[in-house]
Amino acid sequence: MTTVLDKRVDPMAEPGVVTERHDVEAVNRKVDRELYARRQTIYPKRARGTFRRLKWIIMAATLAIYYVLPWVRWNRGADLPNQAVLLDMANNRFFFFFLEIWPQEFYYVTGLLILGALLLFLATSVAGRVWCGYACPQTVWTDMMISVERFWQGDRNARILLDKLPWGPGKIARKLMTHLTWLFIGISTGGALVFYFRDAPTLARELATGTAPPAAYLFLGIFALTTYVLGGLAREQVCTYMCPWPRIQAAMTDKHTLLVSYREERGEPRGPARKGVGGVIDWSSRGDCIDCKACVVVCPAGIDIRDGSQLECIQCALCIDACNDIMTKIGRPNNLISYDTVAAREAKAKGVHEAIQLVRPRTLLYAGLLSLVGAIMLVAWLNRTVLEVNVLHDRNPPYVQLSNGAIRNGFTVKILNKLHQPRTFQIETRGIEAGEIVIVGAPSGSQSVTVETDNLRELRVFVTLRPDSVGKQASSSTPFDIVVIDSTNKASAIRRTLFQLPAAAARTAP
Ligand code: SF4
Ligand code: SF4
Repeated sequence: MTTVLDKRVDPMAEPGVVTERHDVEAVNRKVDRELYARRQTIYPKRARGTFRRLKWIIMAATLAIYYVLPWVRWNRGADLPNQAVLLDMANNRFFFFFLEIWPQEFYYVTGLLILGALLLFLATSVAGRVWCGYACPQTVWTDMMISVERFWQGDRNARILLDKLPWGPGKIARKLMTHLTWLFIGISTGGALVFYFRDAPTLARELATGTAPPAAYLFLGIFALTTYVLGGLAREQVCTYMCPWPRIQAAMTDKHTLLVSYREERGEPRGPARKGVGGVIDWSSRGDCIDCKACVVVCPAGIDIRDGSQLECIQCALCIDACNDIMTKIGRPNNLISYDTVAAREAKAKGVHEAIQLVRPRTLLYAGLLSLVGAIMLVAWLNRTVLEVNVLHDRNPPYVQLSNGAIRNGFTVKILNKLHQPRTFQIETRGIEAGEIVIVGAPSGSQSVTVETDNLRELRVFVTLRPDSVGKQASSSTPFDIVVIDSTNKASAIRRTLFQLPAAAARTAP
């Protein structure tokens, strides 16, 4: 330890206090303690009970959906992918069962994300961090990684003991098997995710034979490593330090939100249960909490719910199971820790009963917004068109005056055929007496074009106003429509644009 005589202000002392004998290392250690808390390893004990069972069920369901979904087939006809859920990056298409979303329709994806966010807001306002506690991928994978650790190294006490033991063949084998299984889970996770981006059976064959595209191996590696590090190594640190949701979700909760809570008014004063006269515990002058810490040792975040609401709490409810187990054993009523609201607890402290309020302005607002966005998306989907037309007027020159006095305007017309068959379209004008429509690349005199299956065709179109019509145009910009009509079913897309002319005085007579 270095001790120096140094007359300067101690950063940890009260403002203005000058330390004469200054222990630099001690001060540095103090600063370290303040700014950086070393991670305490958490050894969650296995919990048993209703919420643990519910978590197993949700884990099995979410993992089954995730792993099985890319293998589900969906017949869309010849020449189209038959994978039910596919993010077809090569063809810029997103297939989701009967839905097919084109890049031009990305607003549907935005709408789905908004719906998901509103659903999360509603769930949070009703029951706090239920998403975090039951369905968040970080929770699901961490739970899985902890189960693996428990399988190879034993439950809490065995794991604590193992970590204290010096390294030897047994410890190395157990740790190695744990990490190898985590890596296997990571690779399966990354593997499952890449199958969403390419035909799953084909990609599986390619991966097995080493012929998959390099990007597939790269992303598989990234996803595998991310799962291993976040789920196996970082665990609760992700929820506490990396994820913004714990900070944001507070804005969606209020005193009527259901939260995993310790019933202080019932549990305190806490203390070990000691049997009195006749071998029975006298509960009359004490609380129900016997300070056994069963709720603490099962907590994956390593916190004590009896200290009140904490940022680290993911609301997994395992402490409810642990405490109920203890209450049953000591013959006290269950639910010393339970889902409860601040309002109900405050009312109970005053001896009043307050019912859970699920319907309140906040939940009504989220439910209303959810219905509104859902309805907008439904209407948009029902009115979805399989023909997209875009018309762009030439900027330079805006018009060309021909030698006979006629005026010609040039346009770029883009026609997107979203059907899985070639289509023929007729291009017409409305609202202007066009003398001639010329489509570059179409046979002379023809106003019809074919757009191939699933294709976007870009056309140069010239519209010419006859000399006798030019004089009738009062303005130098005449609005008119370019109409694209499907020759088979007569479905049409109308795009309003402007026909540009020189000012009346500048028009040259033929
Ligand atoms: S305090 Fe209870 S609900 Fe919160 S994370 Fe720990 S075990 Fe889960
Ligand atoms: S499990 Fe229940 S009784 Fe035991 S310390 Fe926690 S709150 Fe108290």
